[in-house]
Amino acid sequence: MAEIVSGKVVSAKVREKIKGDVASFYKKHGRAPGLAVIMVGNNPASAVYVRNKHKACLEVGITSYEITFDENISEEELLAKIRELNADSSVDGILVQLPLPKHISEERVIETISSVKDVDAFHPENVGKIMIGNYTFLPCTPAGVIELLEHYNVQVEGKKCVIIGRSNIVGKPMAHLLLERNGTVTVCHSRTRELREIAKEADILVVAIGRANFVTADMVKPGAVVIDVGINRLSDGKLAGDVDFSSVEPVASLITPVPGGVGPMTITMLLKNTLSAAKMHENNR
Ligand code: NAD
Repeated sequence: MAEIVSGKVVSAKVREKIKGDVASFYKKHGRAPGLAVIMVGNNPASAVYVRNKHKACLEVGITSYEITFDENISEEELLAKIRELNADSSVDGILVQLPLPKHISEERVIETISSVKDVDAFHPENVGKIMIGNYTFLPCTPAGVIELLEHYNVQVEGKKCVIIGRSNIVGKPMAHLLLERNGTVTVCHSRTRELREIAKEADILVVAIGRANFVTADMVKPGAVVIDVGINRLSDGKLAGDVDFSSVEPVASLITPVPGGVGPMTITMLLKNTLSAAKMHENNR
């Protein structure tokens, strides 16, 4: 039977530390770190994420600016708002909730956010910095996975790490972070042949594909650490991960549940990035 990771417990611990650091920051600089979250349109899933981010900011003492636009806003208007926030010294982090309506280029939006306020770490400059291991911000979800591995004392060095999924926001940066910790990393994706066999070799298996219960027990090496990033809404309204938890849990040594595993860490890492950005801005004033 595997030990079950509690993202809630780890997240609460990290948030407690951030709260203390935010209080010290306030004492030193006479202001709180500020995060601006922009939402375009009224996608219900995005609205939940934005609300949770706002609540989390308030809990640790970060000032949260929620900016919502009608889905018909032009790209130029949105970019103008981002430029205004780039110049606003009370705003340390800027996040634009994705996805955006089709008439707005996500690429242009991400590139317009100042790289020193890009707390999602999606700006090409920050992506490049991650590649060479000299970064300011880490993307929140992979950073949350690393924090969980560290909390549960999982050694990465020398281990066979297999990541299923190669998205820019999870799979690719995850590969870099594990490589940086001296793991031997293989990235699988939708065109990978013999994915089952490759997955079964993993000491650490990270799954981020968005397919409910895709990874089954026969794909997991006994004793492996299994990290499930997937969040899938089933037809009965329940949430499921990319890993078939009930069959894999008896085989693994450590496993993250969905919900309550990686999920709670993502927003926590956003808070951490916002605080780092605020410290950096004060140091450079
Ligand atoms: P994405 O759709 O951008 O990328 C999916 C990746 O999975 C692609 O690289 C694709 O090649 C691969 N893939 C798809 N089907 C596959 C298959 N059958 N076999 C092998 N590989 C396959 O997804 P994403 O944004 O990386 O998100 C992945 C999952 O993680 C989703 O369920 C998403 O909701 C979840 N997610 C969770 C958090 C969190 O906070 N916990 C954050 C981001 C994403």
